[in-house]
Amino acid sequence: MTQFNILDDIDFEGKRVLVRVDLNVPVSQDEAGHVKVTDITRMQRIIPTINEISDAGGKVILLAHFGRPKGRIVPEMSLAPILSTLSKVIEKPIAFGTDCIGPMAEAAVDTMQNGDILLLENTRFHAGEEANDDGFSASLAANGDIFVSDAFSASHRAHASTVGLASRLSAFAGRTMQKELEALEAGLGNPEHPLVAVVGGAKVSTKLDLLKNLVLKVDALVIGGGMANTFLAAQGYDVGQSLCEHDLADTVMEILDISKEAGCAIILPDDCVIAREFAANVSFEIVKVDEVPSDAMILDAGPDTVHKIRGWFSKSRTLIWNGPLGAFEITPFDRATVDAAQFAAAQTKAGKLVSVAGGGDTVSALNHAGVADDFTYISTAGGAFLEWMEGKELPGVAVLQKSGS
Ligand code: AMP
Repeated sequence: MTQFNILDDIDFEGKRVLVRVDLNVPVSQDEAGHVKVTDITRMQRIIPTINEISDAGGKVILLAHFGRPKGRIVPEMSLAPILSTLSKVIEKPIAFGTDCIGPMAEAAVDTMQNGDILLLENTRFHAGEEANDDGFSASLAANGDIFVSDAFSASHRAHASTVGLASRLSAFAGRTMQKELEALEAGLGNPEHPLVAVVGGAKVSTKLDLLKNLVLKVDALVIGGGMANTFLAAQGYDVGQSLCEHDLADTVMEILDISKEAGCAIILPDDCVIAREFAANVSFEIVKVDEVPSDAMILDAGPDTVHKIRGWFSKSRTLIWNGPLGAFEITPFDRATVDAAQFAAAQTKAGKLVSVAGGGDTVSALNHAGVADDFTYISTAGGAFLEWMEGKELPGVAVLQKSGS
């Protein structure tokens, strides 16, 4: 297993520790303009690292981005409005520095006592952040003695605060980053076989690299959602009005060929839930995939298919999951996703399955199924999780590797 520099055995006493975190949280604004954080999950995840450094007498200096200000100061993308929520979640006071480099940052850091926590303003207010500019990295590094990265979800980007800092300061994985890397290692790096993957969601075109990588590594690949329609259509089935990328037929056949050669079973729906309209509580029918009327659309996998998927989960030791099996936001088209997720959660709880999920809508689909706490690990990362499933090296992870590993 790849070895990473982690927080064990570091003397933090009196050290200025630059901690890259993910505070790109969803927010809403009321009529009076007050910003409300609508999901605190990402804030909760960074608590262990912050507490560990602060309790050991380190000065915790948080670096984060918020939105896409593209190198300019955009007041609506300031981190200041989320400071009070962060402080409540962490249950400690947090000071704020109105710039992440230069005299304002330096002054804020200079006033810190051991154990204090400081949040610096949005790193993306400077163009040097996304350009991974060496001078900007040097300005960030001027306020720190140690660099800790706890933002897996930003680690697919080679930015100054995720990668550049590591060339200036010794770099370590924070506890959340460590947990994420260990879970990913168990899921795909060095998994126990049989290994089954579920890939669902709307389109094949957004997940081509991912599918091509997975068929080489997993023993079985369950394809769900709109993607399954594209696979069925490529094999000659009439999918009626379903969401489908007909132009990808050749690509689908290529993926099927690669999977055959690699010995990876492709699990497609045998039956499906169809409707004439994509709306809540419309009348629906369950039909076999060769019986879809030309005026209907497939919106979920059917019960026979879920039964088959459960069978694959039963005989597998590891599961990785990205994307829903149907249009889960609308009842009753959430059924297959909910049933399969609940079965995976039960297998995990019984100690029979290691289950790792993540990427985009997957977290909300699994939350909707009520299983968020019962999977082995659910990643809140979007793009980084997908790039990991694609088998790509993440630059913000590579810099945390122990030399020689
Ligand atoms: P993705 O972002 O690619 O993971 O896709 C997730 C979206 O795919 C969700 O909004 C689902 O509602 C949608 N989806 C899944 N299955 C279907 C389907 N059969 N027809 C239409 N939309 C679907």
